[in-house]
Amino acid sequence: MAVAPGEQGGAVRYRLRAGEHRLDLNARLGQPLRLEWTGAIACTHCGRATKKSFAQGYCYPCFTRLAQCDTCIVKPETCHFDAGTCREPEWAERHCFQPHVIYLANSSGLKVGITRGTQVPTRWLDQGAIQALPILSVETRQQSGLVEMLFKEEVADRTNWRAMLKGEVEPMDLLTERDRLLARLESGLGQLRQRFGADAIRLLDEPPVSFDYPVLEFPRKIVSHNFDKKPEVTGTLLGLKGQYLILDSGVINLRKFTGYEVAVS
Ligand SMILES: [Zn+2]
Repeated sequence: MAVAPGEQGGAVRYRLRAGEHRLDLNARLGQPLRLEWTGAIACTHCGRATKKSFAQGYCYPCFTRLAQCDTCIVKPETCHFDAGTCREPEWAERHCFQPHVIYLANSSGLKVGITRGTQVPTRWLDQGAIQALPILSVETRQQSGLVEMLFKEEVADRTNWRAMLKGEVEPMDLLTERDRLLARLESGLGQLRQRFGADAIRLLDEPPVSFDYPVLEFPRKIVSHNFDKKPEVTGTLLGLKGQYLILDSGVINLRKFTGYEVAVS
């Protein structure tokens, strides 16, 4: 599912890839939707058929071989490139040794997150954030992980997806939160600058952004659909938020089923 910011302040746009076509999901709001998993899963990296999906879309060989499936991607502070044990040093040069951004977002309350510079704002939309603010720029993924560790002493790094889907999220003043956190974490950031160089961790001065999701009605109680348990999902489409479809029969996280071959009607 492709998620893009709305044009001129409009609602976030959702398109579902269906073969050659792109199905405009915003246009399907309020209408019946039927998804059926055919039983096939294709690895998102190599395209090979796989019985089970690992790490949201990979076959087992790719899962164990690719650097992008290594635990250091989720915990960048554990980067082991310098030890010479990176699974794919060339891939790392292109992905990990690139500028990363530390941001604050409001998805189910305040959270901190990191992303590669190029992944903004996709990352925020994937999390269902209603507001986001880039605050720091660093030179590598490992540095972003170390900065995030500092922030985690003060704020969450995860989204409470149930609260996010219920729309139980109040807007907040991210600029004030940023200033408060930067003041509290000043000495920790100073230590990282000593280690990596004064210019390695730079303050950003960007305006906060906000997003509107196309939701007719938020669910009061969250019931999750799961293709692995029941391959057929039907209902009236009530909303789109994060990587979720909200149907009157329950919600489904399509990211979780990346690589699943699904018939849509
Ligand atoms: Zn594969």
